[in-house]
Amino acid sequence: MTHEEIKESLSAYFDGQLGPEKTVEITAHIQACKECRTALDEFGALSAGVKKTLPVQAPAAMKDRVLAGAQAKKRLIRPATVLIAAFAAIILVLMAGVVAKHYLPAMFSQVQGMINAAASSLGSSSGNQ
Ligand SMILES: [Zn+2]
Repeated sequence: MTHEEIKESLSAYFDGQLGPEKTVEITAHIQACKECRTALDEFGALSAGVKKTLPVQAPAAMKDRVLAGAQAKKRLIRPATVLIAAFAAIILVLMAGVVAKHYLPAMFSQVQGMINAAASSLGSSSGNQ
C-alpha cells in the first residue's frame, strides 16, 4: 500500500475495520511515517473529544430538576400574586372612582355602583356578609 492509500484507510484502521494483513501493513507504515501517525492521532483526539462532550449533553435530567424547582416556586408564589392583582384592581377601581368624582360627576354614581358590586362580590366570596 502507498502512503496515500494508507492515509485514506486510516479511519477504517482506527475503527478496526481492516483485515489483519492491512492492519499489520498500516501499523508498520505509521511507525515510519510521521504524517500518517499525526493523522491517526487526530482520529484518536476526535474520538476522545466525542466521548468527552457526550456527558456534557446528557444532563437533561438536571434541566428537568431546574424546571421542576421553578414550577414549585411558582406554585408557592401564586396565592400572593393573586392577592396583589386583586389589591391592584381594587386600587384602580377606587382611583377611577376618585377621578370620576372630580372630573366626571355624571359618571360617579355608575363607578360607585361598580365599586359596590366589586365590594359585595368580594364580601360574598370571602363569606364576610
Ligand atoms: Zn504515510
